[in-house]
Amino acid sequence: MAIDFSVEPEFQANLDWIEQFVREEVEPIDALFPSQTLVFDKQNEETQGLIRPLQERVRERGLWAMHLPPSLGGMGLGNVSLALVNEILGRSPWASSVFGCQAPDSGNAEIIAHYGTDQQKDTYLAPLLDGLISSTYAMTEPQGGADPMNFTCTAVQDGDEWVINGQKWFASNFKYASFIIAMVITDPDVPVHRGASMILIPKPTQGMSLIRNVGLIHEEPGEGAHGYLQFDECRVPAENLLGDEGSGFKIAQTRLGGGRLHHAMRSVAVCRRALDMMGERIVSRRTKGAPLADQQAVRHSFADSWIQLEQFRLQVLHAAWQCDQNGYDKAREYVAGIKVATPKTVTDIAYRTLHGHGALGATNELPLGAMLQTGIMLGLADGPTEVHKDNLARKVLKGYRPSAGEFFPDMHLPTRRIAAREKYADLLEPQLANW
Ligand SMILES: Cc1cc2nc3c(=O)[nH]c(=O)nc-3n(C[C@H](O)[C@H](O)[C@H](O)COP(=O)(O)OP(=O)(O)OC[C@H]3O[C@@H](n4cnc5c(N)ncnc54)[C@H](O)[C@@H]3O)c2cc1C
Repeated sequence: MAIDFSVEPEFQANLDWIEQFVREEVEPIDALFPSQTLVFDKQNEETQGLIRPLQERVRERGLWAMHLPPSLGGMGLGNVSLALVNEILGRSPWASSVFGCQAPDSGNAEIIAHYGTDQQKDTYLAPLLDGLISSTYAMTEPQGGADPMNFTCTAVQDGDEWVINGQKWFASNFKYASFIIAMVITDPDVPVHRGASMILIPKPTQGMSLIRNVGLIHEEPGEGAHGYLQFDECRVPAENLLGDEGSGFKIAQTRLGGGRLHHAMRSVAVCRRALDMMGERIVSRRTKGAPLADQQAVRHSFADSWIQLEQFRLQVLHAAWQCDQNGYDKAREYVAGIKVATPKTVTDIAYRTLHGHGALGATNELPLGAMLQTGIMLGLADGPTEVHKDNLARKVLKGYRPSAGEFFPDMHLPTRRIAAREKYADLLEPQLANW
């Protein structure tokens, strides 16, 4: 089947509008407020005062929350189209919020839309979709995130309430969130993939407390936005369960397929920015009386980034196309492939560009340190690289069978020659036939 990443002319006109809007209206806000977490603070009048009029213009253009189905006010776009949108939005930390598709709120909204009751949709989904509140997804626990079998945070039903006990770790943006969606063990006696459920916990709720905000590499202790949470006899109404009891991991899968594609395509934009910065730098900066670009080693560094970016972009678009053609479930290896490729591509390209800028590259006056850190984090957030590589290999290996021969692989030349000699015995020269 031909692979086609083209879009309708009307949609291309939208892409052109988005590109210009992000460049002219949103990117200046990045310069004023470069903090990536401030995006989630919906109570900040200074930043929201800038963002809300832009959101209004996006709504007027009919481009608000494009990832959602029309029934929820979105455009119901396919994955390739959304990938092309995210390739633009990824240029700016504020752009996704301006267009109503900020992760993790976009994924959280998707699962409430998909599995929520009418009451849950009214209480949590409506303000989330309107961009009025932020949310948190809390799955990881301090004793281990990559392996769900380590999860111990429980919810036990007591009359018309669930009682939650345990801890959650790295609940991103908890300090700005109005509610959290937590993965909790509701049946410890069955395998975790059938015994875990998702539950909605408004903030504040008695019994849910913040142990501390965990900061990333560059942040001062106490300044981070990743919540380390304690639940002590934390009670929520029985109707706060999201979807069926025991369906937590099924729901999580719904959330992650599209999210990984969007993250990857936004990372294409980050890499493009770094590549462009590198290009500008090496034709501007001089050494030994000539531009840096006159140094072969520097040109090779630039070429390595260009090649890596081209490969990555096509890989992401192809994964999006696979999802459009066959659905997320059948395209799991393609999505896992881009999840693995994303951190490597971002860190490699950001590192080369940072290095090419010398000491300036290492400062907080350029976004390169932040890009490098983002690359590292993308190898952990939503599961470490190794786990996704493993899942990919397991799925692809289902298409392989052991070799037919007892000792040698199917491509073993002497073995193949014997078969070929037999097949063409009548036509071969006797000398070759006996060889
Ligand atoms: C920036 C950021 C944001 C995050 N946001 C959230 C959030 O909002 N909500 C949330 O719930 N979590 C969040 N996380 C947590 C993230 O999902 C976990 O860090 C991740 O799942 C890994 O879990 P862990 O940190 O406990 O590492 P561990 O499970 O301890 O793994 C440590 C390392 O061991 C290796 N490893 C582990 N398992 C395997 C395996 N099966 N095969 C081979 N090697 C393996 C890998 O190298 C891995 O990096 C975030 C993390 C980061 C860095």
